[in-house]
Amino acid sequence: MSRRTGGGTTWRALGLALTLQLTALTLPSVAPAQSQWTAADTRAVVDATTVLTLAPDLSHLSAGERMAVAKLLEAGAIFQELFEDQRHPDAAWARESLSPESPEALLYRLYSGPVGTNAYNQRVPFLAVRPEASGKNVYPYGLTRAELDAYLGANPGERDALLDVRRIVRRATPEDLDFDLAMLGAHPGLALIHPGLESGLRARRVRPSAGAFYAVPYALAYAERLHRVRAVLLDAADAVRADDADFAAYLRLRANDLIASDYESGDAAWVSGSFGNLNAQIGSYETYDDALYGVKAFYSLSLLARDRARSDELAAALTDIQEIENSLPYDRTKRVRSQIPVGVYNVIADFGQARGTNTATILPNDPDHARKYGRTILLRYNIMTEPTLFEGARSRFCAAVVEAHCGELTMSGNFERTLWHEIGHYLGVDRTEDGRTLDDALQSVSNLFEEMKADLVSLFSARALHAQGYYADSELRAVYAGGILRVLQSGEPRRDQPYQTMQLMQWNWYLDRGLVALEDGRLRIRYERYHDVVASLLREVLAIQSAGDPARAEAFIGQWTTWQPDVHGVIARAIAGAPGGGYRLVRYAAVDG
Ligand SMILES: [Zn+2]
Repeated sequence: MSRRTGGGTTWRALGLALTLQLTALTLPSVAPAQSQWTAADTRAVVDATTVLTLAPDLSHLSAGERMAVAKLLEAGAIFQELFEDQRHPDAAWARESLSPESPEALLYRLYSGPVGTNAYNQRVPFLAVRPEASGKNVYPYGLTRAELDAYLGANPGERDALLDVRRIVRRATPEDLDFDLAMLGAHPGLALIHPGLESGLRARRVRPSAGAFYAVPYALAYAERLHRVRAVLLDAADAVRADDADFAAYLRLRANDLIASDYESGDAAWVSGSFGNLNAQIGSYETYDDALYGVKAFYSLSLLARDRARSDELAAALTDIQEIENSLPYDRTKRVRSQIPVGVYNVIADFGQARGTNTATILPNDPDHARKYGRTILLRYNIMTEPTLFEGARSRFCAAVVEAHCGELTMSGNFERTLWHEIGHYLGVDRTEDGRTLDDALQSVSNLFEEMKADLVSLFSARALHAQGYYADSELRAVYAGGILRVLQSGEPRRDQPYQTMQLMQWNWYLDRGLVALEDGRLRIRYERYHDVVASLLREVLAIQSAGDPARAEAFIGQWTTWQPDVHGVIARAIAGAPGGGYRLVRYAAVDG
């Protein structure tokens, strides 16, 4: 529930699918039985890649803050490698094998690993590595859900450990157990922080059994690198102690969280602290890369410079959101915080799972941490207002809609829609009727419904915000226009793409209810229907989250993910053919020079 979002997410969301369109013209329309990466795939991606460089002004930082920036960039580089290694067992080898200026090096950077998306929207290695596994490299390679489900069914007491957000799953072989015991011997402090870990491993080692699994905290599995990151974070904390006590305290706590595999203290300090010029998302939070169970978090680091003036202005504008919560179409409305920590930032650099062009983040995801401390919303201003990204969005919108709508999309509309998407994560259902967390109840489709809810709350709240004068007429229109662009796809999504899938579901709902209609190969938007159509889908989504029944959730997804070539295909081609499409590879002045 990090919940990346994005008005601009569209690049993230659509980028991969774009290749499909770029090469579909020259390739047979039937996917090959054996998926493979071709020279044509490499060329298509390389030719369609634009490099963006983020270079925010840091001249106002103190000497201590600059030192902290340097240290945090060091930590980020370690997390980048760790992330790649979490995603693919052969990433370390692949990384070493690259020659710096080769097309493969660009692909590796673009995809954060040796697997790309080919002309058929399939995930395929472009280097000589094993195919990608659903469980990436945080489960035993090639493990299927059927196998682990059977084991969990027979050993329900191990479920919490095996599906823990920050533990990797291993087969209980003597070799793996010996490896972990040796690692624990090399880092004796871990045994102290993780009571029961050593005795548990030893008990397994006495009776390793075929078909059995065990879980290892990330703190042990990645001990070497996490200890290095810890040291660097403590240095960064020292460097900013005099200038920014709250940020320093957060860095110190987070340094230890990484070793404890328990983020509560750092999360509390992060969300509740009042920071100065800097902020940073540090650690493993997002579970999008776990296509097996959707529960394992992957490493990231975002280093951010606060835009103080814009942050203060925004905080003043966000008054009472309780009224919006009360207006949502469900009957268990809750008390929401009157103060939501939201800040406007410029990205200095992103690493690992956070790297890309996502426009905003809300964290932490842990429902107990969120309940106790709230969640911090990080709006990424220099990405939201990056001119080439907005130009690309505008050109895709104009290619998809009838001409009269073309001018309706604006940068500030995208900013607001994204902001209210993030606030949307604060609102609505956060537990099932019978008190389970949504992740527990809905598991692998939990993210999909949470993101759809946030999209819809953003659009649903727009009418009330307009009525109270927060939006001018043209701003309301721009938010609505952005809501339509958000759901359009340039290719049929795969079911393991939660964002694209839930966007297609919205698109289909809007078509079905007449919010959008195809007219000579373009879409016309019937704005007068907007609020009611959005409200009707939001009601369904909230009901599904409330019920927490995965079968019902799956059925709803199945019902609303139809792809019709003569409708979706027409718009997809128009979007894919719009000028300025393709991939965005982000570089950072602070890292890449
Ligand atoms: Zn989100």
